[in-house]
Amino acid sequence: FVSVASHELRTPLAAIKNAVQLMLQGKTGLINENQAKFLSVADRNINRLTSILNSLLDLSRIESKKIEMKFEELVLRSSIEFILSSLKPQADGKSIQLKMEIPEELPSVYGDREKAEQILTNLVGNAIKFTPEGGKISVSAKPFEENGDMVAISVRDSGIGIPEDQLDRIFEKFHQVEDPLRRSITGTGLGLAITKGLVEAHHGKIWVESEVGKGSTFTFTL
Ligand code: ADP
Repeated sequence: FVSVASHELRTPLAAIKNAVQLMLQGKTGLINENQAKFLSVADRNINRLTSILNSLLDLSRIESKKIEMKFEELVLRSSIEFILSSLKPQADGKSIQLKMEIPEELPSVYGDREKAEQILTNLVGNAIKFTPEGGKISVSAKPFEENGDMVAISVRDSGIGIPEDQLDRIFEKFHQVEDPLRRSITGTGLGLAITKGLVEAHHGKIWVESEVGKGSTFTFTL
């Protein structure tokens, strides 16, 4: 039901987005500053709604095990470089430093490129979201100590951290940590549930270590 409903909702939403865009670009006639302001509010919320629907679709595919994997040989360095450069404008906006630490001889892994990049986007995106201005984020990768056939990829941030009693629960769908520090940060609580599902579809695992006020490190294996 969720899958069909989110799919059906996306089509009219795309038409609304298109109409709002045409008005914003002045293609339907001149608009004044005030109208542009309200249309931009509509536009941002259409984007938010589209992203929630996409998350619901992803989650329903994961839960019904209908997720299609396209495995190929992945060079992690290029995927990580690509994701970091896509998210750089967001990090720059908060003066956050993004770093990559990968040894030259890191073996390539077997994975689904798009989904591996979605995992990285979610984790680095969260790191940016939950790290105050001037912080640091680094993405590292190395052979996994417990299993030589796997690579462990970590996203470390110097952000607000996660209380110990919440560490297991943050991977549950719709779970969000409640505290005053996070009140102004929006989200759906679906990102980490999807991320975990995508890691598990690769037969990998994901875990987090964190200290409140110091930062968090999310690690997953591929
Ligand atoms: P959301 O859409 O709320 O970001 P997620 O599933 O991605 O949902 O994350 C769940 C919760 O875990 C977030 O609401 C946040 O409180 C916490 N969280 C996730 N990543 C981090 C991080 N890097 N630092 C601190 N808290 C985090």
